[in-house]
Amino acid sequence: MAAFIDAVAPYDRQPEADPVAMVGVRTALGEAVFPVSDHVIRAMCKALAAYRDPEDRGTCVECGGRHLDENLHCQECGRLHGILGQVIAQHARRVAAEEAP
Ligand SMILES: [Zn+2]
Repeated sequence: MAAFIDAVAPYDRQPEADPVAMVGVRTALGEAVFPVSDHVIRAMCKALAAYRDPEDRGTCVECGGRHLDENLHCQECGRLHGILGQVIAQHARRVAAEEAP
C-alpha cells in the first residue's frame, strides 16, 4: 500500500488537498492506516479494475466454466477453445461423419 501511494502520489495535481479516505490494512504482522487523496483512490480503482488473474483465460462457451487450462481446454466440460480447439473439433466431426454408415 505504501509503495503504491509512493508511486502515484507525485502525480497528484492537488497535493495539499485533505485526504478523502483512510485505508486500513491489518495483517498478522500488524496494522497501518493510510490517509489517501482523491488522486490515490482513483489510481487504486483503475489498478484494481485493470487487474486480471493470470489463471483467467476467459469463460467456456459450452458450460460457462471459468477454468480453462493453458491449452484453453475447459476443466469442467472438456471443450477445447481457440483456433487449435476449433481445428481439432472440426477434425473430430469429419472423422465421425466418415465413420457413420
Ligand atoms: Zn466448459
